[in-house]
Amino acid sequence: MIVGAGSMGMSAGYFLARRGLKPLLIDAFDPPHDQGSHHGDSRLIRHAYAGAPAYVPMALRADALWRELEQTSETQLLHRTGVLNMGPADARHLREKEASAAAFGLDVPRLDAHEIDARWPGLRLPEGYAGLFEPEAGYLSSERAVSAFRQQAVAHGAAILPYTRVESLQVTDGHVSVRTNNGNFHAEQVILSAGAWFKTLEPFIALPIRPVRKVVGWFEADEELYGDGVFPGFTIDAPGGYFYGFPSIAGAGVKIGRHDTGVVWRPGEEIAPFGRLAEDEADLRSALEAFLPKAAGRLLHSAVCKYEVTPDEDFIIDRHPAYGNVLLAGGFSGHGFKFSSAVGEMLADLVTAGEAKLDISPFSLRRFQGNGVQAFV
Ligand SMILES: Cc1cc2nc3c(=O)[nH]c(=O)nc-3n(C[C@H](O)[C@H](O)[C@H](O)COP(=O)(O)OP(=O)(O)OC[C@H]3O[C@@H](n4cnc5c(N)ncnc54)[C@H](O)[C@@H]3O)c2cc1C
Repeated sequence: MIVGAGSMGMSAGYFLARRGLKPLLIDAFDPPHDQGSHHGDSRLIRHAYAGAPAYVPMALRADALWRELEQTSETQLLHRTGVLNMGPADARHLREKEASAAAFGLDVPRLDAHEIDARWPGLRLPEGYAGLFEPEAGYLSSERAVSAFRQQAVAHGAAILPYTRVESLQVTDGHVSVRTNNGNFHAEQVILSAGAWFKTLEPFIALPIRPVRKVVGWFEADEELYGDGVFPGFTIDAPGGYFYGFPSIAGAGVKIGRHDTGVVWRPGEEIAPFGRLAEDEADLRSALEAFLPKAAGRLLHSAVCKYEVTPDEDFIIDRHPAYGNVLLAGGFSGHGFKFSSAVGEMLADLVTAGEAKLDISPFSLRRFQGNGVQAFV
């Protein structure tokens, strides 16, 4: 049984169903939907990664699994526009990404501000900035990906229960009982992938996850400079914050979001619409004006989404500390979507084989013990 059939849960449901199990996927909404962390059309996928070395093999595996899903679902999901990561030339994250690319033999050339200007005239970089260009990176169509997993999962025997909210869980004699607003269910193994709502599963499990309101905007742009096929996905370590964005896809405008900052959101609270906070548009516009000046036109569209952030921004993929038959997948901290195909496969491995083929030790709950973070009750 899977509680939360969003990015991670739907993927896990697909891999379990493909192995001949008949998983039940329960979701409070009808995924894909616009209440959690997976809406807004697009998510960057990159392979060179700062931080734990485990991310790179996971990104490469995820990439292969996205291609496989594209074939089985006959839907294009992955668009290899390339991704340009920009920042001060000596920024630590650029050096770490470069080192991870070298360690795994990835082609990620470093370009200086002049080379970047010459190649993408829509970009304006301050002196002293540089970029790492990942030609094999790009973006994923996120709702389409969740739909493709859902369609394939159901085709292989999974059952989806939408508009059903899990209210509490209990383990008795090794069996998990789940109480919902739509009846009670029982299973031998359960995956909890509740995104921004993990707090509602307390006291059964308490995780150090902080849900945060995030906004994105699509801005009118010069299509010749910023159109899909011409302009890459991007990240910018700017003096005023850390931003990421996408080319103008089908004329929708350049989409940009801010990765750092954000207001804490508590499950059950209304989430403020885009524009309620003055910084919603101002932050995005100021980054565009400074770095992509001809993409700082009218705001065409906007969305409000949720991150679920752990203290170190690394994921939680582990077993419940008291119940080995309850798996946890959460805290994807604003960078999880690209990995969701691989995370689903790893969760299926944990259910069917008892262990994952890739290293998940950096995502263990144990890392929070002894540093003042309450990891569980
Ligand atoms: C604006 C924005 C931009 C991002 N950009 C990127 C990017 O460029 N690249 C990238 O890799 N990642 C990115 N991310 C992060 C990525 O989208 C998330 O890490 C990922 O979607 C998290 O997946 P999830 O399964 O944990 O959450 P979700 O996809 O939200 O799924 C959780 C599901 O659980 C259900 N649920 C919760 N509680 C219950 C309950 N009690 N009962 C039943 N169902 C329940 C919810 O309804 C939901 O469907 C971005 C996120 C946002 C918000």
